[in-house]
Amino acid sequence: MLALDIPGKGKIVIKHVILDFNGTLAADGKLIPGVVSRLEALSSLVGVHVITADTNASARSELATIPCTLKIIGHDQQDRAKLEYADALGPGNVLAVGNGRNDVLLLEKAALGICVIQFEGAAVASMQAADIVCVDINDALDLLLRSHRMTATLRN
Ligand SMILES: [Mg+2]
Repeated sequence: MLALDIPGKGKIVIKHVILDFNGTLAADGKLIPGVVSRLEALSSLVGVHVITADTNASARSELATIPCTLKIIGHDQQDRAKLEYADALGPGNVLAVGNGRNDVLLLEKAALGICVIQFEGAAVASMQAADIVCVDINDALDLLLRSHRMTATLRN
């Protein structure tokens, strides 16, 4: 787990990290360089979950060596499917990372949400639903691995 004590926001215990795949961990269906080692490190601290519509049908093979739970969702009501996944884990202990409009409900409900922009760009609504916006997924994952950085960003 990740125990955060953020001035102005309070104590947050993160037990699960839920990540979108395309546009977040992957570009054109391929994991972005630097993501594998960071997800491996993160998996020793929290449960790592990847939830995706798997547009490029590559998530299972790309994530094969990473200790994570992969959830592939259907094409309809993806925002609801992602929200329900967080609800089942206990959203008060979830940190979510995503970039798309289908991540908005997840980013809003999670205890903390990080929106990433990188190659695909981010839906403006997902940026507004997040607590932090990062340009790059590796920067976002480093916030979790060096959580004092996140505290500094969020403190009031
Ligand atoms: Mg996406």
